[in-house]
Amino acid sequence: MLDETPVATLRGVGPKSAEKLAAFGIETVQDVLFHLPRRYEDRTRVVALGSLRPGDHAVVEVSVDLAEVKFGRRRSLLVRVSDGTGSLMLRFFHFSKAQQAGFERGVQLRLYGEVRRGPASLEMVHPEYQRIGEQDNPPTEDRLTPVYPTGEGIHQLTLRKLSEQALALLDETNLPEWLPEPLRTPTGLADLQAALRYLHRPPPGADLAALEAGTHPGQQRLAFEEMLAHHLSLRAVRQRATRLQAPPLEEGDDLLQRFYRQLPFTLTVAQRRVVDEILHDLAQPHPMMRLVQGDVGSGKTVVAAAAAVRALASHRQVAVMAPTELLAEQHFACFQRWFDALGIRVGWLSGRVKGKARRELLEAMQSGDVQLLIGTHALFQEDVAFDRLGLVIIDEQHRFGVHQRLALRDKGRERRRVPHQLIMTATPIPRTLAMALYADLDSSVIDELPPGRTPVQTVALAESRRAEVVQRARQACREGRQAYWVCTLIEESESLQCQAAEDTAAQLAEALPELKVGLVHGRLKDTEKMQRMEAFKRGELDLLVATTVIEVGVDVPNASLMIIENAERLGLAQLHQLRGRVGRGSQQSSCVLMYRSPLSQMARERLAVLRETNDGFEIARRDLELRGPGEVLGTRQTGLMQFRIADLLRDQALVPQVEQAAGWLLQHAPDRVAPIIRRWLGHATRYAQA
Ligand code: ADP
Ligand code: MG
Repeated sequence: MLDETPVATLRGVGPKSAEKLAAFGIETVQDVLFHLPRRYEDRTRVVALGSLRPGDHAVVEVSVDLAEVKFGRRRSLLVRVSDGTGSLMLRFFHFSKAQQAGFERGVQLRLYGEVRRGPASLEMVHPEYQRIGEQDNPPTEDRLTPVYPTGEGIHQLTLRKLSEQALALLDETNLPEWLPEPLRTPTGLADLQAALRYLHRPPPGADLAALEAGTHPGQQRLAFEEMLAHHLSLRAVRQRATRLQAPPLEEGDDLLQRFYRQLPFTLTVAQRRVVDEILHDLAQPHPMMRLVQGDVGSGKTVVAAAAAVRALASHRQVAVMAPTELLAEQHFACFQRWFDALGIRVGWLSGRVKGKARRELLEAMQSGDVQLLIGTHALFQEDVAFDRLGLVIIDEQHRFGVHQRLALRDKGRERRRVPHQLIMTATPIPRTLAMALYADLDSSVIDELPPGRTPVQTVALAESRRAEVVQRARQACREGRQAYWVCTLIEESESLQCQAAEDTAAQLAEALPELKVGLVHGRLKDTEKMQRMEAFKRGELDLLVATTVIEVGVDVPNASLMIIENAERLGLAQLHQLRGRVGRGSQQSSCVLMYRSPLSQMARERLAVLRETNDGFEIARRDLELRGPGEVLGTRQTGLMQFRIADLLRDQALVPQVEQAAGWLLQHAPDRVAPIIRRWLGHATRYAQA
């Protein structure tokens, strides 16, 4: 089988190059076949010089008129050639004596290269060339020439030779076709072999524009199968979950009522609907795996708390995990406020809770005094023992991959029994990405904001107008409102970032002596950070200077002005998160995006999107368009989900077909599911066995 035939069995691949290829992701002959060309060159026909245009890549046949060495800024060899329809200049910067001597007047050459506009005429710089005679010349290529993406120490010619051999092997040992006829024919999907052959060696006249855009039916065929494999692997995880057991949590309706009664507000319709969906899942004897999506400020915390009440009333422990300490502390404060009234003790744990405090907390959990634990990922360290963990809640963590989700769930595992899992994200995920990333989860959407919110007005101002912005902050605070001033320095170290925030705070305190200016950043002690946040919340500070530590979850309703420095450096999602810190009360809120000129095109578009809309889903969609899925999901850094051929943005239109096909296969050809997953995800499917 080609998926098990090591690439080292191909001619010309020694141990050294096998190693390089492996690092590049090519280990088997099948990998060679799935490594598709980036573009193609047409070397199938000879083009007349007279019809060349700058930018063309072309084969031409010419005779040499004149060769001379020029001594300009760089020594170069110039060769004037012609073919009766026009002439062309060849330019070489590196050349040997022998090479130079070869370009005698009248010598016939076949050239391949890119045509450029030179100072006096069209040129080719360092073209590939071979000597030819008047007659009996070797034929030109009969297929388009593939140009593959290359890697560290892996040359174009090597990849061409490898694909040549791999295609020959494909004649003898077919790659099994896993997509059955009823799936392929109606959707117009080519068969696998034909697609691969075509894509590696397209015939002359192939639709190059479609090929280079990745929309050719052959590419779509492969992208389709790859997306299908990812989707199926996530569905398999979900399927397996239905075979696991979880404690059905169904007690405590009265406690839930008491919980609702002591809230200072009533739930929105959307919140109630989502709570119902969650409570329904929790009552099942199988683990819930549910994603709650809701824009910033839509009120996810209280929904999570309601789920926690249900679990606690059913005598189970609950773990609430947030990505940063600041956010975890905030949840802690919030839950404490709500749960005190119910007589429930809430525990808090981060990496910085050490020694005696930590011991006492762990004991309180053992004895059952603390049933609800809130914290950072420190919650899942070895010595934290949950003995009756019933529900794991993860907040604001859209960068979790399926592996991590399963690892967390398994922390509370007792044989086949696992806790329920609730994941909350404020970064709405466009449908395409959701299908690719979260097909293992059920999903609920809080698609309504609590009443009385007014949309945030957003303006973008150049850094040169800083004085005006300072005035604005003064004015807002004079009116009894509060403001955030966020300093960003994203490429720099955290300590530089904190330094910048300190400097800004000092400058603002000087410029605005009548205001109380506070400062929070990542290097403060927890207690310090917490105290300053609380002081801001109580209105004892007017202006809070902060680093992006306040990005997620911070909630101070009276704050109605958000100023973000160097906004051009942040992504859309992050800016939307930051802006979401205001607009939480009933007064008109605004957000000032300060930028340094000149703005790049991309930055300009990002700022424009934020001015146009406050809708997190719309922003996510535009973010996907502007940056592509790798950036939006952070997969580029984390390797969360890597596609070889599919591009979630380009191939969005395939999503409904992929979902349908997955359903069809699971029902009619379940034996093909595993081979499809294995073909595309290979070893990465470890987690699917969880
Ligand atoms: P997010 O979804 O961004 O996590 P939060 O849970 O922090 O939002 O809620 C934002 C604010 O809205 C909090 O101050 C919270 O108390 C308040 N809130 C939540 N639900 C409601 C509601 N139904 N009515 C009024 N205010 C609400
Ligand atoms: Mg939140």
